[in-house]
Amino acid sequence: MAYTTTVGKILLKHYSPAATHAFLDSKELDKKNIGAFFANLAEKHPEEYMKTVSDLTRLGFESATRLGSTVRLGDLAPPDFKDEEFKKLHAEIAGIQAKKLTKVKQNDEIITALNKFSGDIDKRLVEHGVKEGKTLAKVVRAGARGSPSQYRQTIFSPVAVNDNKGSVLTDFVIDRSFAEGLTLPQYLAHTFGARQASAATKLAVADAGYLGKQLARAGMTMKVEMHDCGTDSGIAIKVEDKDYLGTYLAKAVDKYNHNNEVTSSMLADLKTKGVADIIVRSPITCQASHDSHPGAVCQLCAGRREKGLPEIGSFLGVVAGTTLAEPLSQGMLNSKHSGGSARTATSFGGFKYVNQLFNIPDSFVHEAPLANHDGVIEEVRPAPQGGNYVVVKHVNGKTEEHYVHPDLNVFIKPGTAVEAGDVLSDGIPNPAKIVKHKGIGEGRVYFANAVKNTFENSQLGGINKRNFDIISKGIITHVKITNPKGLGDHLPDTIVNYHSLEKAYTPRHDSRKVRVDQAKGLYLEIPALHYTIGTKLTSHMMDNLKKHGVSYVTVHDDSPGFEPEMQRLLDVPAHEHDWMHALYSTNLERRLVKAVNTGASSSIAGPSPIPGLAYAVGFGKKSEEVEQTEEALSFE
Ligand SMILES: [Zn+2]
Repeated sequence: MAYTTTVGKILLKHYSPAATHAFLDSKELDKKNIGAFFANLAEKHPEEYMKTVSDLTRLGFESATRLGSTVRLGDLAPPDFKDEEFKKLHAEIAGIQAKKLTKVKQNDEIITALNKFSGDIDKRLVEHGVKEGKTLAKVVRAGARGSPSQYRQTIFSPVAVNDNKGSVLTDFVIDRSFAEGLTLPQYLAHTFGARQASAATKLAVADAGYLGKQLARAGMTMKVEMHDCGTDSGIAIKVEDKDYLGTYLAKAVDKYNHNNEVTSSMLADLKTKGVADIIVRSPITCQASHDSHPGAVCQLCAGRREKGLPEIGSFLGVVAGTTLAEPLSQGMLNSKHSGGSARTATSFGGFKYVNQLFNIPDSFVHEAPLANHDGVIEEVRPAPQGGNYVVVKHVNGKTEEHYVHPDLNVFIKPGTAVEAGDVLSDGIPNPAKIVKHKGIGEGRVYFANAVKNTFENSQLGGINKRNFDIISKGIITHVKITNPKGLGDHLPDTIVNYHSLEKAYTPRHDSRKVRVDQAKGLYLEIPALHYTIGTKLTSHMMDNLKKHGVSYVTVHDDSPGFEPEMQRLLDVPAHEHDWMHALYSTNLERRLVKAVNTGASSSIAGPSPIPGLAYAVGFGKKSEEVEQTEEALSFE
């Protein structure tokens, strides 16, 4: 059968292994499919990968020079349906204004209408441009440059713009495109957001660089120390989630066994069989720390990457930290491009939101309130200052009011039962509070998802989820000692790494093994799935345990002698056992004095590379060599 091809495809096929030709022929090669092509190439033909990549890079340089393709003036003409669409939008806004709502409610409805309008146009415009043969539309659709929303602003219109505080200017709709040129009032309205974004960009690049440094520091002791820790714990992932290709199954599912590698064909097969999610091994649930230091991870829990399993001795946390830091500073530049035009009211992106998840400031912007105790929603009523109050009646009869910011929607209805830690509105739950209510394990899973979502809302998508998992283990890993009895050599109120406690923890003598359905409100004594020791089980957790084949858990009526406490990213290194590592943080003088007072030690053979750097040995060296140096340097 005859089929159509393009010169580009013929050239591509010339430099690619024959086995990939069917894929190249059958697909439109946009950013997504090119990604799939390279992933497939790396997985199935690793020996040809290097050559193909360098051949294609050269081909790219040559073609770009010879082709000389460009954007024509005609590419910038607005589509024929533009006036008609704006007529409809203006009519809709007039309809909302005629309803004589309160100012807040009216603004909400107009913002919703504007966002829907922009979103619909985004979807339609690129396809329309491609049909008309516009190069610019093709570039956007291929994912090579520019987003649909930037394309819309260029040839259609920015529609809505923000003021200098980031709120949408609802009484000012812009109906001309950048290509047509804005009118003077439109231009001036656009400058508020644009100027604010431009200043914020300058400041944010520095901030992003600093956050990147903090990330690498916090993950510094997360190191691959062994091949297999032998755990059958893991985290639940959706079978559609391609980020987990190369991980290993923590629990057998269908015909696949524990430790089978997750492959595309396995996921596709499970999907056709109606399996929705599976449990895979992850650094979050790795137990290598039982044989090593608290930051230790095994190769199988880390999973395969492009280059195979990470080598023993590799600094997993530093790699993940750098992976997140690089697009962060790049992304802050991106925010300038979308600056000035309004974003959806309920998606929170940008540096401020990323940073606050890591450094949990006291005033957490757009924080979603959480129920502090189990209870029932008694009432949701509007607050006189705007926003709402959600009133929770606790099981003990007391009531508690939670204020919800006007930007956030309340979805929960009176009469709904809530458990401690449940989210009461739209917005971003404070990870430190989630950790406090739901424990280290659940806190890590929430944190990894929340940070990934915030990255995506900041146009920093496409980072593999597993990097967020690694970072979440590095950051959410501290507990506060409340009752040191039976926990070893700790004073009350000290902050300790959870994994060093878990390693030595034995279930208390009056703990008991019960069916999962009878464990509500009890505290875990032995970790199960990703839930850690001391997690107070909620009905949601119980359902999740049962769903993944856990029928019995070992629990206790009281919390263990410690409670989870998330530390700010900035402070994570300070809680490391090694005093020299702790100096790699803030308040150096105070930390040094404390180290002297407590007789703290430091080891170049330990998990931290800092003492090795201080002695100019150790980083990346073989461990025997390090041990010899350590001996030579030790003095009694
Ligand atoms: Zn492991």
